[in-house]
Amino acid sequence: MQTYWCEMAWVGGAVAEGVQVDVDGHRVTEVKQGVPPSGEILEGLTVPGMANAHSHAFHRALRGHTQVGRGSFWTWREQMYAVAGRLDPDTYYRLARAAYAEMALAGITAVGEFHYLHHDVSGVPYDDPNEMGHSLVRAARDAGVRLALLDTCYLSGGFGAPLEGVQTRFGDGDVHQWAGRADRLAAAYAGAEDVEIGAAIHSVRAMRPEQMPVVVEFTHHHAGPLHVHVSEQLAENEQCVAAYAASPVRVLHEAGALGPRSTAVHATHVSDEDVALLGGSGTHVCVCPTTERDLADGVCATRRLHLAGSPITLGSDSHAVVDLFEEARAVELGERIVSGERGHWRADELLTAATVTGHTSLGFPDGGQIAPGAWADLVTVRLDSVRTAGATARSAVESVVFAATGADVVSVVSGGRRIVEAGRHVTGEIGHLLRDAIGAVRG
Ligand SMILES: [Zn+2]
Repeated sequence: MQTYWCEMAWVGGAVAEGVQVDVDGHRVTEVKQGVPPSGEILEGLTVPGMANAHSHAFHRALRGHTQVGRGSFWTWREQMYAVAGRLDPDTYYRLARAAYAEMALAGITAVGEFHYLHHDVSGVPYDDPNEMGHSLVRAARDAGVRLALLDTCYLSGGFGAPLEGVQTRFGDGDVHQWAGRADRLAAAYAGAEDVEIGAAIHSVRAMRPEQMPVVVEFTHHHAGPLHVHVSEQLAENEQCVAAYAASPVRVLHEAGALGPRSTAVHATHVSDEDVALLGGSGTHVCVCPTTERDLADGVCATRRLHLAGSPITLGSDSHAVVDLFEEARAVELGERIVSGERGHWRADELLTAATVTGHTSLGFPDGGQIAPGAWADLVTVRLDSVRTAGATARSAVESVVFAATGADVVSVVSGGRRIVEAGRHVTGEIGHLLRDAIGAVRG
């Protein structure tokens, strides 16, 4: 049993002062408000662990190297493929461990890894065909975060086009072979509380509509999350309409791929009908604003989707930036730029997206809240930094969401285990870990 005392904590959607949180093992057992200090003192605002609902860990090696010159999502993708072609189970593990530790430092305690780098550079399965997935699980555990491993089905290189070049690493040949491999992966982590095995349809570009129900059935069978990249690019919409006479959202709807356990990632270019289908089915929408602006994708109409019925979650996707506070405020600030008006999202709604909603979309419904029975994830943000100083209990959530950065996170307890203390990860200097892991794959 461990007792933490929070100067301020975000509990049940409001800031409370003098909050005692008792933890036994991985879980919170009791929360008391307005009590005198006892146990370990956490100064600042303590919020629940945050969920990064969309990650491609290896993209961390692109940061800085792809922020030069001109181009688009498609030219960026060529640079991403060059790194994808150099990874093996060991370098993938080391890069992911460092990337997940960077996330931990920013207050992220659960990650949704959209994983499609399955096979060796020739497209041949490793001796254990899930070796790359196992690397990600080890990486998350060593960094101290929980992992939703979204095993991605990726069968074609474009509408009607075969996989080419590095893409052959992504493919399983056909959807039933994908399902057989994913079943083995799920069996390997059956009963593991810190790992959730889900699935992903890479996009409507990467598999045909008649193949999708096999992936959907996998997630029903395993009661796991289903994620899919949707309408990130206008070109994807145009090609989808040309191929199937329907938008990507409608294709997914007809394949049975929408619903409360599903998450549409990006949903940047969606029609009124798409919004109605996503919202009406209760499909989550994961936006990744720092990546979407980095790749010149566009701005998602988050409030419209939310009002239609889609819970909004946040992801750092390509890791151009790893900071869920920045993703959260970018949701509101993007709406302001598009509409010319302020005040679409309240700070507490954005913090909900970063915490409990993100966890739910990853298959961890008992995460992202400071409550008895929930995962014991406590993220403490200092309120005396140059960015946050001046905050009071009344303005603490607004100060954190609209002005803090991941560098203001001083303490992280993840699943009852202390992983960040005094702003440092307990395993050591993560900057060096990142430098070495990135150097190994960039040459
Ligand atoms: Zn993505």
